[in-house]
Amino acid sequence: MKCLLNKRSKVGHRFVLDREIAIFQKKLSHWWRVNAREFPWRNDNATSYHLIVSELLLQRTRAETVELYWPKFINIFSDWDTLANTSEKKICKILQPLGLSRQRAPRIKALAVEICTEKGRFPQTQEDILLLPGVGQYIANAILLFVHDVPAPLLDVNMARVLERYFGSRKLVDIRFDPYLQSLSKMIVTNNDPRMINWAILDLGALVCKSANPICNQCPLKSNCRHFHRSGRSLRQRK
Ligand code: SF4
Repeated sequence: MKCLLNKRSKVGHRFVLDREIAIFQKKLSHWWRVNAREFPWRNDNATSYHLIVSELLLQRTRAETVELYWPKFINIFSDWDTLANTSEKKICKILQPLGLSRQRAPRIKALAVEICTEKGRFPQTQEDILLLPGVGQYIANAILLFVHDVPAPLLDVNMARVLERYFGSRKLVDIRFDPYLQSLSKMIVTNNDPRMINWAILDLGALVCKSANPICNQCPLKSNCRHFHRSGRSLRQRK
């Protein structure tokens, strides 16, 4: 076991030890059991419709904002059929309190129509999912994760920030094309509970590893985090 965990893999332009991945997953899972944020789309009775729609609403919008708006949205649009049978204009009007309604409404409507045409079935592969209207890499991964139970990363700027601080930075500006972040995030979420580890990273990013002022002293990952050790060193050098 020891030998296996000491194996190192080339991930993009870096080498990562399997042990680092295992420690990251383990510490984060423990932390999340106590600190998970609760949202209605994470309830045990949430369906894949709830999960995918929540991801569409969460794009460029804080989870707390979507949470407030959620009961109204689900009350009106309880499934893909209702969305597909509502005019884009009406969806746009209902989405107004959430913002970005002109961008969101056509995407949500087009996807709902497509899903209903396919009798609720989503394509199986990422390649085919990306052909769905209005679906980019992030939503395609959400579909793989929540509809097909495939370990796919919900890789956005928040997940990227946590992973880069802990494991080291990427090379490319665009997350979607960076081979290191793409492979690393996939490796991290490939465990026995891919949903949990995805949510745990996003929750750590929102509550502890914040964009401007990470609360490293309260972080379960600090003993192995590159950013934490680097910033400690630079503080000591300045003294
Ligand atoms: S120790 Fe700090 S920088 Fe590292 S993951 Fe935790 S909060 Fe983020």
